[in-house]
Amino acid sequence: MIIFPDLPEILIEQTHVADEITLALRTTSPSASCLNCGTLSMRVQSRYRRTLHDLPSTGRPVHLIVHVRRFFCKKSTCTQKIFTEQLPELCHPHAQRTIRLQDALGQLGLVLGGQAGARVGSDLGISGSRDTILRMVRQHPLPSTRQRERTMRRFQSPGHAQRFLSAFGLISDRFRLKRHYLSAPDYRVLMQRRFQVWNEVTAGKAAA
Ligand SMILES: [Zn+2]
Repeated sequence: MIIFPDLPEILIEQTHVADEITLALRTTSPSASCLNCGTLSMRVQSRYRRTLHDLPSTGRPVHLIVHVRRFFCKKSTCTQKIFTEQLPELCHPHAQRTIRLQDALGQLGLVLGGQAGARVGSDLGISGSRDTILRMVRQHPLPSTRQRERTMRRFQSPGHAQRFLSAFGLISDRFRLKRHYLSAPDYRVLMQRRFQVWNEVTAGKAAA
């Protein structure tokens, strides 16, 4: 039927539209790689249903029901006899939200903070508690090693840098605003706002 344009190996099998939209999905790749040894396997052991919250569409909440497969690892020496296929473009392991919904909540958190982000998110149909939103901000992907090394030079000791980077490194690119698109006063206000959120997220522990 329809395929997510950015997720070529996910197929929508069923759509149910009412007050909420529910999509039943399945993966189309014939095989998956063992998480332990990397060996490709086509031997399906079982299937289970995983439910994910996604970004809303036409003002309605969207739920995805994904039929996920478990595979046998065929490498006799591998300690992982059975593994679950991963959906790296769609969601993180064990997450209840899609990556794009997590990103949206993280963006709200960075701009508005946890409390206001949760309130505005609820109005927009992007549900997440204050704590969830702050967790999304913290979980932002790491910047490149080069950026980390550049930042490292500003610290007195490797321990100090490590403590700071372990927290700040996760979201540091959010602090690099598109300076040339902004007036100086706007830039200052936005940076100040981001550091307020940062302090809320870290409770002042990052550079301690
Ligand atoms: Zn294996």
